[in-house]
Amino acid sequence: MQLPVYLDHHATTPVDPRVLEAMMPFFSRVFGNPSSRGHVFGWEAEAAVDGARETLAGLLGVSPKEIVFTSGATEADNLAIFGVARLPGREGGHIVTAATEHPAVLDACRRLEREGFAVTFLMPEKGTGRIAPERVREVITDRTFLVSLMTANNEIGVLHDVAGIGAVCRERGVLFHTDAVQAFGKVPFDLGALPVDLASFSAHKIYGPKGVGALFVRARHPRVRLEPMLHGGGQERGVRSGTLNVPGIVGLARAAEIAVEERSEESRRLRLLRGRLHDALAGRLSGVTLNGPALPAIGRDGELAPGEVETRLPGNLNVSFAGVDGEALLVGMKEVAVSTGSACTSASLEPSPVLTAIGVPADLAHASIRYGLGRSTAADEVDFAAEAAVRTVERLREKSPLAHSR
Ligand SMILES: *Cc1c(COP(=O)(O)O)cnc(C)c1O
Repeated sequence: MQLPVYLDHHATTPVDPRVLEAMMPFFSRVFGNPSSRGHVFGWEAEAAVDGARETLAGLLGVSPKEIVFTSGATEADNLAIFGVARLPGREGGHIVTAATEHPAVLDACRRLEREGFAVTFLMPEKGTGRIAPERVREVITDRTFLVSLMTANNEIGVLHDVAGIGAVCRERGVLFHTDAVQAFGKVPFDLGALPVDLASFSAHKIYGPKGVGALFVRARHPRVRLEPMLHGGGQERGVRSGTLNVPGIVGLARAAEIAVEERSEESRRLRLLRGRLHDALAGRLSGVTLNGPALPAIGRDGELAPGEVETRLPGNLNVSFAGVDGEALLVGMKEVAVSTGSACTSASLEPSPVLTAIGVPADLAHASIRYGLGRSTAADEVDFAAEAAVRTVERLREKSPLAHSR
């Protein structure tokens, strides 16, 4: 076991060696610009991009021409939202999103709000963080042109009913964008079957390189049009100018391929490890609460129990330890790399807006830890992380016993 133990796979993931291997030729040997139409250097690079586009499209169940490569999911989210909102005639229209979205969606929507658009920030169901399709239906008005709701949340791992929400959007003739960054490769995600018009992806959350992602833009039923945000060479059908990141794109496709191929087996393994971590924490400490949806009942092989549905990303665990401070916890267990919903290090003293939105009281939100288990996570690492948390929480509670008995 190597220390520190990395349990922050929602923040980023290491590049899988198989992905790196696929990317390597495209840095120095096959270095052409895919837009160079006049020579073999360009053709080879273009062939690599075309191949990656076909691979990714195939995995998503869409057509290659519906894929727009971007610099990551932040750009994909921004392109989806601004691209739709900036079309002529959309001025002053209405957008529906949720308080629990990623900042890439939230801040884009807030910006549009300042420009005169109306935005509804839905509050999720307390505890689970779910958003019922019915809630979406209730807030859609005649002026609504876009709903943007993520497939899986990056803090509490809750999986949204994308099919149900998309169906409501279809019924009302409203475009539906979903940030699928955390979901793709972790849970089934088939755009061939889902009523989704725009979807964002990022390579570095699925063991690919940083700085590359994609936006799915539906071409038929309906044909989604976007106002470009970047202007220049007209790459990506004019929607996203800029020389393509060839090694990055090759890496994204290879990473997606591996993630989809190994998804079922990896999910079973992560559910078992996540359960082991939760049991160790909740079994050995008092005052441990789970944030987000309940963990599913699973069999000894990690398979979901009969009748059980997955409501949470298999590698996600988010817990609060009553009476301790998340920042102090991180400092106290430096050999374990995790995140906290406490934001004392940043400019604001506000805890995680996601935890706040699902009704976690401020003191418990400040006492929260997000564990993100991933491809390299092994049982001994989970045991080490549990032991570190138990020791640190006990030590911090001894220092301020009143806080816990509050
Ligand atoms: C990481 C993440 C993003 C941002 O992706 P980048 O490629 O890092 O820009 C967007 N949405 C979600 C849900 C994420 O987890």
